[in-house]
Amino acid sequence: MTVQRLSGKRYDTLEPVMISWEGDRISTVEPLRGEHVTTEDLPYLAPGLFDIQINGYGGIWFCKKGLSVDEAIQAIEPFLSAGVTKLFPTLITSSHEALVDGFSTLNQVCQEYPEIAQMVAGCHLEGPYLSAEEGSRGAHPLEHIRPANWVEFCKLQELSGNRIKLITVAPEQEGVLDFIPKAVNSGVVVSIGHTAANPEQIRAAADAGARMSTHLGNGAQGMIRRHPNYIWEQLAEDRLHCCLITDGHHIPASIAKVAYRVKGYERMLITCDASGLAGLPPGLYESESVDVEILEDGRHVIAGQRQLLAGSGATTEMCVAELVRMVDEISLSDAVDFASRNPGKLFGVETGILEPGGLADLIQFEYDVDAAKIEVLKTVVSGNERFSKTKGET
Ligand SMILES: [Zn+2]
Repeated sequence: MTVQRLSGKRYDTLEPVMISWEGDRISTVEPLRGEHVTTEDLPYLAPGLFDIQINGYGGIWFCKKGLSVDEAIQAIEPFLSAGVTKLFPTLITSSHEALVDGFSTLNQVCQEYPEIAQMVAGCHLEGPYLSAEEGSRGAHPLEHIRPANWVEFCKLQELSGNRIKLITVAPEQEGVLDFIPKAVNSGVVVSIGHTAANPEQIRAAADAGARMSTHLGNGAQGMIRRHPNYIWEQLAEDRLHCCLITDGHHIPASIAKVAYRVKGYERMLITCDASGLAGLPPGLYESESVDVEILEDGRHVIAGQRQLLAGSGATTEMCVAELVRMVDEISLSDAVDFASRNPGKLFGVETGILEPGGLADLIQFEYDVDAAKIEVLKTVVSGNERFSKTKGET
């Protein structure tokens, strides 16, 4: 095996280092020596990012009926340039047939393309057992929202090759509180989202084994009672990790700050929640289930209004930089960990770590704190360089 190397400053300590690896394992992390070495000039080195909620890219949704192998690959590979080395392709509420197609195809892709399988750490089923309430269901099509169905889930799990590691449910939907323990016992993490549940139902879901809140503060009604409500309840529920969409549009800085204060470093996760339209220019995009407008400011909204968002056009590294901009007390190191280490721990997925023996899932990047911008230069997945560019290259 040949030894490969990357140099830069560690994202956590800012120490100039040279990281060497053989195969998919880091062999050494050594201080970078030399008179020319100044911390300022060096790019950053960090673990590859792990995003648990990616709906697709470039016009392809993973829940598209008839999803092809090529389409799935086309929607996964662009995230390499965002520094993403691990992701959960996410299928949102759809007909049973569309979910069958999506999971079957993703399973096939992982079996036939090892380099894609290295990235697909699992799948996220967001829905269809969600709230039918306007606002809470967000862009999830009402016609396909349905009561929890363990038999349907098992079928989808089988077709996915046992890859569904996360399901988002609304506790108040019929059958969900019975569904949760079954899913948990089968090794799936259950998360609360797209809900209008009352406090008792949130608590019952946590009692049943729910462990996360999906994009807290979004997938919620525009007007809710001041208290109690399902946002306060989830913030205060210590058994729930909190995942936030920190693209700068989905939540204000105050929510990110409060969530960080109450959940603490260990229970924070971030995602870009990229919609299947991420990467496309502004305009109106029609689909079978929902029409989405991409606005000039980059927001993706349900067509015909401006308040309800339909996923984001951002990618994960943008959400890392944006979170640091939004909340003074969150460091770059913490924000990276919220999109690598922390989802890794919650889902039992090995992520990159800058230590000998660690998985060589690595990124090298430039970071402009004033512009809140991360420019990924190199992405290494399981020891293989999968993306590379020079600074400023488009
Ligand atoms: Zn959602």
